[in-house]
Amino acid sequence: MSLSANAIKVLEKRYLSKNENGQLLEDVNGMFHRVAKAVAGADASYASAAELQALETEFYEMMSGLEFLPNSPTLMNAGRPLGQLSACFVLPIEDTMEDIFETIKNAAMIHKSGGGTGFSFSRLRPKGAAVNSTGGVASGPISFMKVFNAATEAVKQGGTRRGANMGILRVDHPDIMDFITCKKDNADITNFNISVGITEEFMKAVEENKEYEIIDPHYKTAVGKLNAREVFDVIVDMAWSNGEPGIIFLDRLNQANVTPALGEFESTNPCGEQPLLPYEACNLGSINLSLMIKNTNQPEVDFERIGTVVKKAVHFLDNVIDVNKYPLPEIDQMTKSTRKIGLGVMGWADLLCQLHIPYNSQQALELAEQVMGFIQEQARKMSIELAERKGVFPQFENSSYQQQGIRVRNATTTTIAPTGTLSILAGVSSGIEPLFALSYIRNVMDNDELIETNPFFKQAAIKGQFYTDELMRIIAKKGTIKELAEIPEYLQAVFVTAHDISPEWHVKMQAAFQKYTDNAVSKTVNLSSKATREDVADVFNLAYQTGCKGVTIYRDGSRDSQVLNIGKVN
Ligand code: UDP
Repeated sequence: MSLSANAIKVLEKRYLSKNENGQLLEDVNGMFHRVAKAVAGADASYASAAELQALETEFYEMMSGLEFLPNSPTLMNAGRPLGQLSACFVLPIEDTMEDIFETIKNAAMIHKSGGGTGFSFSRLRPKGAAVNSTGGVASGPISFMKVFNAATEAVKQGGTRRGANMGILRVDHPDIMDFITCKKDNADITNFNISVGITEEFMKAVEENKEYEIIDPHYKTAVGKLNAREVFDVIVDMAWSNGEPGIIFLDRLNQANVTPALGEFESTNPCGEQPLLPYEACNLGSINLSLMIKNTNQPEVDFERIGTVVKKAVHFLDNVIDVNKYPLPEIDQMTKSTRKIGLGVMGWADLLCQLHIPYNSQQALELAEQVMGFIQEQARKMSIELAERKGVFPQFENSSYQQQGIRVRNATTTTIAPTGTLSILAGVSSGIEPLFALSYIRNVMDNDELIETNPFFKQAAIKGQFYTDELMRIIAKKGTIKELAEIPEYLQAVFVTAHDISPEWHVKMQAAFQKYTDNAVSKTVNLSSKATREDVADVFNLAYQTGCKGVTIYRDGSRDSQVLNIGKVN
């Protein structure tokens, strides 16, 4: 196992078991053994003792070989008393005082265990509406978001990691304009990502420059109209100036809902990759594509190895559902009724670098479809195999799979997560993002700084005989190798960084992965600081046209504090 010093630092801080004096009770190997044993345990009633031991070894080797990692809560909590293993939750918020504060309590319990929560505030009556029981007036969704935010702030001191939230408001809610601008000064609502829930009707009205109806969720009646383009322009303006709100295409999410009889998607998890029904949870895991290479002289994708890892990973994630200790009985019941899992990838940009394929090329898009298409197909195949052994998911009869006659154990199998921490542990590029820089500093967890350089670039530089410390320092400051005369042009094309890549390619890559992903894809479309509002509008429109389920943009420098920085050295 070759974990970097950075990875070990992250693990020691939050992931490895400690006693009450803060002394470590396990090392990294110990952590992987603990997780493998706990997760294999779900097969106890299906396997002999020897088979169970073999499964545990298989899981251990897949994780310690960094071929696959489950989401952080599984690494932190499996085989330990808390036992909460999912990263993603969606909780409903009904329009009553009792329900709102009940949900705040439930969210706090989830945050304490390292999970993230998504909420739709769309069912809450608008600001100024009547409150029958008191004769007073309602304070509206945004005021309650601030209460959720404060609760998250308080819990983060004692939890396994900082709680993350997604807040969604439908574009036809009466308070939509206040929502779009609610993070304007960034001082409030710091523990939320926000996204506007966009409808097909709204997109059509934008296209035709028409008005659309605003609906009071309490009375379910139209209470006014807004001009769609004007609203769209304010979303664009806020995203341009602040990176938020993002947008999610609600109707599109619901078209992909395989169990509509159980409810409607109103929200996703905090980073947007996992639409869930109210009270559903999902556990994610990611395959490290950076390792899925054969023939180092003439590198190519090792599909056979990917296939093997997918099979084991789906088995692993399906087991996690059963050994998980859910924070609420409703979540336990709902999650086990659909058995959703989210297998995705990390190290995509690293894979492209090794193959010498530029991220912003047609060839990369085609390979993305091929790789993710293969993963989706193999994951579903394994889910069918598991169904034969262990049964279909309980709500199968109420699902679109039943109509298609495909007997699966999991209502969904694929999701592309951001892999914020997992990619640090595996030492690879995160999710499907391009390299952010060839050498850079990450600010993570409690303002710790981690320095990272891309190993494939270093390798190419040594091989090309242009490696010098001085040049690397220049590159770290510049954030790109474009127009550096020392570096051959074809390598300049291969080692592109997020800001060398035009926004269109970012969106096209997201769309290529989305085409073969059951759930959604986490991706940030990075724009240069010089990007215009029109550029942002173009990104939104292209994401809609290419079948993305939502989109998030970030314009470099638009916030004082950002997670990733170009040109910053210790
Ligand atoms: N998440 C969270 N808090 C965090 C980071 C992530 O609650 O600080 C949740 C959130 O639902 C997010 C999901 O975990 O969408 C996956 O994030 P990521 O892939 O970055 O997590 P990792 O497993 O790498 O820690």
